[in-house]
Amino acid sequence: MLTVEAALERLLAGLQATDGERVAIADADGRVPLDQPIVAAHDVPPFANSALDGYAVRADDGTRRRRVVGESRAGGPPPPAVAAGTAVRIMTGAPMPAGADAVVPIEEGREADGQLAVDAAPSAGRHVRAAGHDVAAGAELRLPRQPLGAAGVALLAALGRAELEVHRRPRVAILSTGDELVAPGAPLGLGQIHDANGVALAAAVREAGGDPLLLERAPDDAGLIEARLREGAAAADLLIASGGVSVGAHDHVRDVIERLGSLDFWRIAVQPGKPLAYGRIGGTPIIGLPGNPVSALVTFELFVRPMLRRMLDLPGDGRPRVRARVTEALAKSRERRAYLRVTVRDEAGAYIAEPAGGQGSSQLLPLVRANALLIVPEGLPAAEPGITYDAILTGPA
Ligand code: AMP
Ligand code: MG
Repeated sequence: MLTVEAALERLLAGLQATDGERVAIADADGRVPLDQPIVAAHDVPPFANSALDGYAVRADDGTRRRRVVGESRAGGPPPPAVAAGTAVRIMTGAPMPAGADAVVPIEEGREADGQLAVDAAPSAGRHVRAAGHDVAAGAELRLPRQPLGAAGVALLAALGRAELEVHRRPRVAILSTGDELVAPGAPLGLGQIHDANGVALAAAVREAGGDPLLLERAPDDAGLIEARLREGAAAADLLIASGGVSVGAHDHVRDVIERLGSLDFWRIAVQPGKPLAYGRIGGTPIIGLPGNPVSALVTFELFVRPMLRRMLDLPGDGRPRVRARVTEALAKSRERRAYLRVTVRDEAGAYIAEPAGGQGSSQLLPLVRANALLIVPEGLPAAEPGITYDAILTGPA
């Protein structure tokens, strides 16, 4: 059996980042900018301005009375210059008048009969935001390697950008296989279940920054699976199938991959998960995930999510890791590394991990409740109470 690391290395090898596309800044949040510097076309702010409401003055006038000669407001007409012994009323963000080098906050001055008295001598530069004090014109900015958030959008807008070049979202075709599957919402006949994996994997793809394409689900029929996988391979950057990858009489996914392209099939020392079909159909990588929804989602988290991130030129899995102390024993397979569904919380500065429920690979509710996957190494038969393990945070702790 392959270790998780060895399997991941093979999955990531040969994956390429998607090409770039231009998007409007209003649609750029959640997108991954190309890894190239952003050159500031102008200073931010573009001109020296006041950090607060008050009076623009000359510091070297000290505490003497000043005659108020006009005002400067944000977006208003050019203010009069400040000569020795004068002041200009100024609002937050308004341009500093020529000659002024400090701002007296409104609370520290008293204006009467057109004269300003100040409590203390202002120092030069006080409450003045210099041109370019946030970003200087010509600066080469490197955005962090992560999807753009509200702050990044604000910065780009402040720089005057209307568009941004981002990685195209990897298109991921998703196929659910199984004679027993019917659409969510459809009535269940004898022996039927609702297809949970299709929508779940689509959601996981979206969360990882991909663009899911749900293929019409296929029964356990090699011909139909083949037709769907052909369709998916032609339309997508990555194909994900769920179900039908084990060794049952009606498991066809592996055979079909082999017939259409090439198959690497691995057993991975992971619980839940283990059998994972990997191959390529006409250059498109395909992953066959186990059918149990918990296995499908946990193996997505461990293997597919990093693949999608690699296709977006992002590192790792993007999840925080913490160390968490287990409260009760949790059995696992000795040979495999377990990723147990737990809830992690901070108790007096240390993380505690409690089971989120049963650890069966068909038990979805514990996966829903869990905010972490507790990593219990291969070679151990259980997680032991009082012992601290690594955990992957999949939600807020
Ligand atoms: P398989 O991998 O096809 O052997 O399926 C393993 C288990 O997962 C079986 O109990 C299937 O009924 C179940 N299963 C397979 N596909 C899905 C799906 N799309 N949604 C929910 N359960 C599934
Ligand atoms: Mg099946």
